[in-house]
Formats: sequence, structure tokens, C-alpha cells
Amino acid sequence: MNRLRAFLLLTAVALPAAGQSFAITNARIFDGERLIPRGTVVVKDGKIESVGAEVKIPEGVERIDAAGGTLLPGLIDAHTHAFLGGLDRALLFGVTTELDMGTLPAVAAHLREEQSRPGGASGRADLFSAGNLATAPGGHGTQFGLPIPTLSRPEETQAWVDARIAEGSDYIKIVIEDLSAYGKSRPTLSWETVAALVKAAHARGKLAVAHVSTAASARQAIEAGMDGLVHLFTDRAADPGLAKLAAERKAFVIPTLTVLESANGIAAGRTLVEDVRLRGFLVPSEVEHLKTFFPVKTAGGMPVALDTVRQLAAAGVPVLAGSDTPNPGTIHGASLHREMEMLVQAGLTPGQALAAATSATAKAFRLTDRGRIAPGLRADLVLVAGDPLKDITETRSIVRVWKGGVAVNREAGRPPAPAPAPARPR
Ligand SMILES: [Zn+2]
Repeated sequence: MNRLRAFLLLTAVALPAAGQSFAITNARIFDGERLIPRGTVVVKDGKIESVGAEVKIPEGVERIDAAGGTLLPGLIDAHTHAFLGGLDRALLFGVTTELDMGTLPAVAAHLREEQSRPGGASGRADLFSAGNLATAPGGHGTQFGLPIPTLSRPEETQAWVDARIAEGSDYIKIVIEDLSAYGKSRPTLSWETVAALVKAAHARGKLAVAHVSTAASARQAIEAGMDGLVHLFTDRAADPGLAKLAAERKAFVIPTLTVLESANGIAAGRTLVEDVRLRGFLVPSEVEHLKTFFPVKTAGGMPVALDTVRQLAAAGVPVLAGSDTPNPGTIHGASLHREMEMLVQAGLTPGQALAAATSATAKAFRLTDRGRIAPGLRADLVLVAGDPLKDITETRSIVRVWKGGVAVNREAGRPPAPAPAPARPR
């Protein structure tokens, strides 16, 4: 055991650090948008120096032969909550960035400051965050025990938004939720207040995104000018024309199929536990959490969500991959791989599902330094065995992960093997 630890430490030291250069050769490269069947990526000082089929490799740099494998941009989970941690776990599964949709502003501020330092936060995924979410007094979001400054009138919206920006919120999340889809009831923001919040966010150049859970609220959110929906709905079939409306308004949608499954009484994470490509990296608490789900059901269920995703994709609406981790049945990192699989089940091509977890999310959230493998961008990279463009679940066959050009020591994240039985005293 001690010898193994020493080996792992030596390996960690020997891996390229920020400031060093290396080249990944002979890789199938999905650059976030298109495929280079066989090419090279050169990394220098934590950034992509060059990428392509014919790339000159500077002399003396380490070469990593990726023959047979596929190189992807670091994955981005477009819907998580970070107040319980888990960003280090996300990185083990190739998720190099998470977009938090509601957490304590102090938590987000601390993480933001840490990752903006030279060298960044190489041991965990980066986080961007909505911080406090906009909800009515006693509304959805207030039940989790976090102190949330609520609001109830349109006249309050600009001051409320400005206070969030002062706290550091990267975008404004607006909760439209009366829990009617689940046969319950809770106060929610009036439509006048929702529309005023969108205007107030846009007045400061911030994105406004909506939590919805019904077909009616999804339509109204898009009509109110929301930049995106951070959930789909399963109460009833989408209105005809919803996809066209979303496309016309240039809204994006983060369906969060994983958590919708869980919110329809299905243990969505169970298949991840059974997957040999992931199992060895799951700690016992993650295994247990993946088997859980919400004890509820909705009228439309998953067929509605899958069909709506298909309609949105066909209409050209950007569909982004988000898991809503750590809700029941979801964990940081691994659950994004399940989300991509479900997006393909809904009708996206594997390439579209990969873009949904990389370039499309970066574009929608204006993250200009990541999401693609292109010169000048961060060297957030995932090397997988096999070809996820043919079988999307091959994103789980992770060989190596780099964040900002620094190799991730995945082995150190494996749960410790059960201790051998103590020797009997003679
Ligand atoms: Zn959420």
C-alpha cells in the first residue's frame, strides 16, 4: 500500500505542470464542433498552442501518443449546485467546469477568487454561479435552509439584481415554480415580476435563466425574454410552436433529463453504478446517492421530456447538457455522462450531445476561454478510449484529464480498497 502511494505521488510529480509544454499525437479530435479524424494538439503554458491534422511539434516537448483514443474539450455541466462541494469529484470524470444554478454567494465568491489566481484551481472543476436565486417569499428554493433574499414586486427587481451582481453572480436565475406539476403548491413570482427581473438583468448585461417545471411556464419564460431554461417540463406535451418560439427568441434549453427522471420516480443513476468504466471511481456515498430518486411522478413523464428535446433540437434551439447535481440520483461528474446518453436517446446525434456538454454551453454562457479545442483557449482536455461519436457512452472510458494543461491524478480519487483483514497475533 505504501509503495503504491509513493508510486502515485511520483506519478503526480512527473506529470506536466502548468508552464510545461506537451503534445498529444495521433488522436481522433472532437474540437467541440467538428471532428479531426487524426491530429495533434500542442499545449503550452496551460493553453492550446495549436491543433490540427498537420501540426509542427516543437522540439523537446513531451509527446503523448493517443492512438485509438478521442480527445474532447473538458466537459461543462450546465446545471449543478456547489454548496456541498464535489467540484474535485467532477474533475475525475472529465468535468472541468460547472455552472452553478443556485448556491451561497460566499461559497461561489471564494471559489471564483481561487480559480482566478495564476495557475487556477487545478484540483477541481471551475465554477461559475448564479449565487442567490430570485424567488418569492416562501417560494421554491427557500426550503433548503439557505438564507435567500426573496422579492415580490416588479419595483424591487433592479435593486435585487444589482445586489446579486455586487455579490458576484455570473448570471441571474429566476424561479418560476408553484409545484403544480407535482400536485403540490407553493408561492411563486408574479409574471410582472418575472418580466421585470429579465429586463433588470439585461439592463446590466447579464443573462437571465429560468427554473420551470410546466409547459405553460416554459412558454411564458421564453415570451418574457429569458435567455434560457435550466429545466424542461414533464407535466404535459409541449405546445405546438414552442420549439419554433424558442428558436426565434434565440433561447437555449438545459433539459436536465437526469433529474427529470429522478423527479418521475426513476433511479436514473443506477446504470452509472453498474457501468464498469465508472464503478471503480465511485465512493460508497456516491453509489448510494445514485440509487435514490424523488418519490413523485408527473402526468406526462419522461416521454414528454424526450419528445420536447427532439423538437427543440430539430428547430435548431441550443440544447445544453446539465445534470442538476446533487439532487437525488445525481452526482458531480459521472451524472453528466448519463445526461449526454439521454440526450442521444432523445434524438441528438452523439456529436450534438458532445457539443451540448462543451462548445454549445460555452457559447450560450459567453465563456470565451473554454468549450473548444482551439488555439488560445484553456487546455481543458479529456482523452477517452474508443469513439464517443459512434457510442456516446464511450465518454466514460476516460484515459486522462487535463485542466489548464495540468494532468489530473485520477488514481488518487479512487476510493481506497477495503483494508486486508488484520493478521492474527500469534
Ligand atoms: Zn437546480
